[in-house]
Amino acid sequence: MSKNKNAWLNLKDDEKQKVMDLNKKYIDFLNVSRTERLANREIIRQAKENGFVDIEDLIAKKTQLKAGDRVYVDQKGKAVLMFVIGSDPIDEGLNIVGAHIDSPRLDLKQNPLYESDGLAMLKTHYYGGVKKYQYATIPLAIHGIVFNKSGEKIEINIGLDEDDPVFCVSDLLIHLSKDQLSKSMNDGITGEMMNVIVGNMPLKDEEKDAVKANILKLIKEKYNFEEEDFKVAELEVVSATKARELGLDRSMVLAYGQDDRICAFATLEAILEVKNPKRTALAIFADKEEIGSVGNAGMDSHMFENAVAEVVNLCGDYCHLRLMRALRDSKVLSADVSAGYDPDFAYAFDKLNSAYIGNGVCINKYTGSRGKGGSNDANAEFLNEVRKVFDDAEVTWQTAELGAVDQGGGGTIALLLSKYGAEVVDCGPAVLSMHSPHEISSKVDTYMSYKAYKAFME
Ligand code: MN
Ligand code: MN
Repeated sequence: MSKNKNAWLNLKDDEKQKVMDLNKKYIDFLNVSRTERLANREIIRQAKENGFVDIEDLIAKKTQLKAGDRVYVDQKGKAVLMFVIGSDPIDEGLNIVGAHIDSPRLDLKQNPLYESDGLAMLKTHYYGGVKKYQYATIPLAIHGIVFNKSGEKIEINIGLDEDDPVFCVSDLLIHLSKDQLSKSMNDGITGEMMNVIVGNMPLKDEEKDAVKANILKLIKEKYNFEEEDFKVAELEVVSATKARELGLDRSMVLAYGQDDRICAFATLEAILEVKNPKRTALAIFADKEEIGSVGNAGMDSHMFENAVAEVVNLCGDYCHLRLMRALRDSKVLSADVSAGYDPDFAYAFDKLNSAYIGNGVCINKYTGSRGKGGSNDANAEFLNEVRKVFDDAEVTWQTAELGAVDQGGGGTIALLLSKYGAEVVDCGPAVLSMHSPHEISSKVDTYMSYKAYKAFME
């Protein structure tokens, strides 16, 4: 265990600058990786730059993999798996760090656009666990893809550049909020009130829905698609606020999407530096964690198994048993954020078993709710192994539980990896205001997570 609880106090002389430099990169990463698609692209860009090769190229050329080789799998443009082949036979297991790159947000419905009383609006359906009122009155950006009728794939990114317009969900003025404020926070703004304002200027000589007509005209001119194309689009609404340093001491980061792109970033930084490991290292960047790891880029799909199967095959002598052994004998850090202790909401935490931002990476033996339901609950033998790895690498770490018993809870991808027999534990930094449009992390925790993941994969 480290000398001090607080990770800043455990930094060596040259490390403080490393923490600051790493977080500069982190802020840049957050600003370009605001959706799973954008994160996928950025991760693959950095992977290629660092010698990772697309597995499809190797499969096509029937190239064999050897120790030290670096290969990635692009899953539907929404998830990525990066392997560094080890010198040990792959059926002796992999060292895996798995994060997710989707974050809570608002998605546009398939028929989003309408006009009401002079306002053009977009209907949304929230994605993941969202406190809806937090999305009102903040600047919003729209990202995603649309296909027009001629089959052209059009990428939309509006709201992050200084010159871009932004969008907004309105809230009722306080002066008229007697009824609204007497409701519960859950009902003050409901799902069907999460409508994004996109326009207020009518098209001349248009009789009906002239504001909407004007928006459609602008869309056609600028993006070359029509109203009907929304039906086959994937458009996501996220905070338009850029990631910023937080605090006079600049010790924290305030940004959208840190659950779980903080772990994705730390995992990426770690695997890029893994060279010639004994056991094959694998970094997973999954989609759809926030809605139960479903879909063909989520961890509940066969994405992971298939990717490992391809790699086992490229390592030579493929058979199903070798694949199953590789999965069974793997060791996994399920890299996801933990709930940071918030003194303003002390009742929701057990002080003795909470994560504190600034106290390093957290090991969550279990997550879940109502008696550990839906949790992986790591084995003591494995926890002991992980402790040794972290202590040897001088990682400041803490243990944590996701809040007080029966105050709620949550799940991660951990149990989905443990079903093969792999040893798995949840491990990641704590954040404040988790799932809000602007989460808070500690720079030193990001650094300790990176150090922890690197030591684990090496
Ligand atoms: Mn998460
Ligand atoms: Mn989450």
